[in-house]
Amino acid sequence: MQFTLKRKIKTMDNREIAQKFYKVADILEVLGQNQFRVNAYRRAAQTIESLPEDINELYKQNKLTEIPGIGAGLKEKIEELITSAHSKEIDDLEKKVPIGVLELLSIEGLGPKKVKFLNSKLHINSINDLIKLIKSHRLLKFKGWGEKSEINILQGVEQYKKFSERLPLGIALPIAEELAEKIKNIPGVKRVEICGSIRRRRETIGDLDLLAISAHPEKTINSFVHLSVIKQVKASGPTKANVVLKQGIEADLRVIKPESFGAAMNYFTGSKAHNIHIRKLGQARNLKINEYGVFKKEKSGKFKFLTGAEEINVFKSVGLSYIPPEIREDEGEIELAKQNKLPRLIEDKDIKGDLQCHSEASDGADSIEELVAYAQKVMGYKYLAITDHTPSVGVTHGLNPKRVLEQIKKIDRLNKKLRNFRILKGMEVDIKADGQLDLPDEILKKLDVVIAAIHTGFKQPTEIMTERIIKAIRNPYVKILAHPTGRIINKRMPYNVDIEKVILEAKKLNKILELNAYWNRLDLNDVNLKLVKKIGLKNVINTDAHARVELKNMRYGVMTARRGWVEAKDVINAWPMERLLKFLKKT
Ligand SMILES: [Zn+2]
Repeated sequence: MQFTLKRKIKTMDNREIAQKFYKVADILEVLGQNQFRVNAYRRAAQTIESLPEDINELYKQNKLTEIPGIGAGLKEKIEELITSAHSKEIDDLEKKVPIGVLELLSIEGLGPKKVKFLNSKLHINSINDLIKLIKSHRLLKFKGWGEKSEINILQGVEQYKKFSERLPLGIALPIAEELAEKIKNIPGVKRVEICGSIRRRRETIGDLDLLAISAHPEKTINSFVHLSVIKQVKASGPTKANVVLKQGIEADLRVIKPESFGAAMNYFTGSKAHNIHIRKLGQARNLKINEYGVFKKEKSGKFKFLTGAEEINVFKSVGLSYIPPEIREDEGEIELAKQNKLPRLIEDKDIKGDLQCHSEASDGADSIEELVAYAQKVMGYKYLAITDHTPSVGVTHGLNPKRVLEQIKKIDRLNKKLRNFRILKGMEVDIKADGQLDLPDEILKKLDVVIAAIHTGFKQPTEIMTERIIKAIRNPYVKILAHPTGRIINKRMPYNVDIEKVILEAKKLNKILELNAYWNRLDLNDVNLKLVKKIGLKNVINTDAHARVELKNMRYGVMTARRGWVEAKDVINAWPMERLLKFLKKT
């Protein structure tokens, strides 16, 4: 049975307003409007998306302009969206550029200028139009487009189609958490857990699996399918429902009997390979393990229920210690659990500071003081490195040597006033195309922490890119390589770099490859992190925050670290300040 439910428009939430603003930024860009305005919308969208508070509450308290980057103009738009779900100016803008044209922007290699050309000169309104155009080779007649662009565009389309099937963890998890909260509020519901690949913290998520215990399963399912966040109900029965959320992702809710809940959690968390291995261990002990529980085969041939309420008892029944969800991939965790030798994976509370963030001195939204107050009071940190950009990173208003020296003095002044907290003087120095750094050594040596990073020239061939990076980390003052492969989840593939070679070189030089916790980077990824662990290199987990609220992205870094089997003892920003400072000074 398939039916859709009409959703009442009340107000718009943080995510919806953020999405509106992203869209406006894209439209303005395609229309060729002022880049400053485009950036203002995009930055506001990012900030609103990661706001810890409900924007509707801030509106009620008349505090919208306290949100960083929200001036009078944007405030007015937000108010219109909150009160009526519409804004005249935005509606008019949306009419100017069809949705299919905006979709073209998601294809790698098609920037706003090219999209504008394709739309205005060749009337391309959708990805299908674009494919037809390429196949007709009409594009070759125009200057600046060649056979290579045709191939690149087709590859970009393929990649986009693949990407759009799964959501990044940093988008899917807040959606799942919000949904779980709503289910918890349904009368009769006693427990809700998010399972599936999201519980294993995979970097992209296909759909959501939620389990609940309820006193009235049927009523619970009925309330669930009527939640305002649900766009379509695909199937619904007495104990389960399959729906599509308004964000486009599918979700399953199953109401489980309390005695089976742990077994169901185990079953629906996966991975498949892990579950198969566990079931085999069970078979060797005459046990049947499924989503209902662990059953013992008796002499009569019948199965008797043994356990199932708690997940840990499923592991115990086959002689294993509890295995954290993030490493349930059948990649050696079961063998180690047998010997009770699993790594002690890092946790949020282990993190003592953040070694990469940007202040308003370059392209951040907040002052150093605001970042520090947030790091200290909200995150509970002991230290924070301010690492602004350097001049060669185009639009970031990067710091030249003179401004770096001023910033050093400013931080020294601030540090004198701080108790039990230290601001580290850092820079995210750009690695130029030839591997040279964007600041001279006499400036770099005055800093507590120097992070090197690639921000341009992504298309270099592997050999050149790898040498470029290795040259940069050979600089004695560079300690960390930021976002080492440059990938953006669902948007940009890693650049051509022999990352294994870089990791091995970093080990020789005693340098560190960052795990960038920004939700769409998570770079290094789990696979690379395992190699880092294998050769005994340390880690750092940095948020690369461009606004204070983005310091909260740390959790995505910790999740990825856990998937990479990372332990707190190997993460330099899980160390106390003195140990960290000693380490940073050694080259
Ligand atoms: Zn960077």
